[in-house]
Amino acid sequence: MPRGMFKSGRLRKIFVKTPGGRVTVHYRERKPSKALCASCKKQLAGVPRERPAKMRNMPKTAKRPERPYGGMLCSACTRLLLKQRTRGASQ
Ligand SMILES: [Zn+2]
Repeated sequence: MPRGMFKSGRLRKIFVKTPGGRVTVHYRERKPSKALCASCKKQLAGVPRERPAKMRNMPKTAKRPERPYGGMLCSACTRLLLKQRTRGASQ
């Protein structure tokens, strides 16, 4: 029976096969939810789903796409926004 702190479901279970062939349960913290587009709420590509400690040690270029609004808006919404802005400025 697991200890009380492991029964709450706060931690995720990892099944690890030991060298002796036995399967043991390890507990790890859950990953945060996926990043969503601020406009259409679609899941963002190129944004890793990691714990803050791991994100801190990751290079900035690995954390979001390198383009305007990268990591905030999806590519379709970015394209639309930039089109609207340029058209609005010229007319
Ligand atoms: Zn979007």
